[in-house]
Amino acid sequence: MKLGRFHIYTCLDGFFRLDGGAMFGVVPRLLWQRTNPPDEKNRILLALGCLLIDTGQYRILIDTGVGEKGDEKFHQIYGINRSPCLKASLARYNLSPEDIDIVVNTHLHLDHAGGNTRLEEGKLVPAFHKAEYFIHEGEWKEALSPNERTKASYLTENFLPLKDSGRLRLVREDALEIIKGVSLIRTGGHTPFHQCVRLESEGQTALFLADLVPTTSHIPLPYIMGYDLFPLDTLQKKKELLGKAQEDGWLIIFQHDPLVRAGYLKKTGDKIELAEKVSL
Ligand SMILES: [Zn+2]
Repeated sequence: MKLGRFHIYTCLDGFFRLDGGAMFGVVPRLLWQRTNPPDEKNRILLALGCLLIDTGQYRILIDTGVGEKGDEKFHQIYGINRSPCLKASLARYNLSPEDIDIVVNTHLHLDHAGGNTRLEEGKLVPAFHKAEYFIHEGEWKEALSPNERTKASYLTENFLPLKDSGRLRLVREDALEIIKGVSLIRTGGHTPFHQCVRLESEGQTALFLADLVPTTSHIPLPYIMGYDLFPLDTLQKKKELLGKAQEDGWLIIFQHDPLVRAGYLKKTGDKIELAEKVSL
C-alpha cells in the first residue's frame, strides 16, 4: 500500500497463542470469547506482525517476530506456527534480510525482538546484518535487568548480541524522527518505554500501534492487556492516540490481530470504533 511517497507492507512471522484472560485484563471471558475463540488451553490466536516501510531511500523493518531460535517446548507453550516466517514474508516482496537498512524494536519482548538475531555456526549474530537497530535506551535497560514479573518476556539472546555488533542505536527521546517521516513515539504502558511508530508522507499519516492496541478487539478503552505494567498509562495513551487517529483520519496498523492488518476509525457517540478494514 502507498502512504504518500512511502510503500508500506505488513510482514508476518507466523502466528502464536497467548492466554485469552491475560490478553484482555479485567474484561471477562464472556465478552471477548465470541470474537476471539479460545482453544482448549484458553489461548487465543494472534499474529506475529511486523511492518516493512520502503521510503524510496531506506527499507525499515518494525519488529522481527518470534524468530527461529526457540526449541520445541518454546513452540508448544506459545502455540507458535511460523508459516509464513518473516524471511518468507520478505521474500514475497523480493527482499532478503540484507536488504533491510533499519530495524526498529517497539520493545524487546520475545514476540517482537525474537528475529533480531540468529545462530550462525554456533554464534549469535544480527539477523539483519547490514541494518542499524533502533531500540529505546530505557527498554534496553529494563530488558537487561528484569524483575520476577518481567523476566520471562525478555530473552537476552534476542538483543544482547547487538551490543558488540556496532549496529545498536539506543534512543533517549520520547519522540524521535529517525528518518524524515518515520517517528518513534514512546507510549509506556505495556512496558515503561514501549514505542509506537508514526509514519507521515505527503499529508498522509499511519500509526503502527504495537502493543498499545494489539488487536481490533482492544480498541474499546477498557480492553487493556493484563500483561501491561502500567495499565493506566496505556489507557491515557489510547485515549490520546486513538482520538487523534480518528480525528485526523490516520491509518492504524495492528500488530497482533489474526485477521485485520489495518484500518480507519470512526466515532459513534463518544465511542471510537473501527470504520473500515484495510489490507496491506
Ligand atoms: Zn506483543
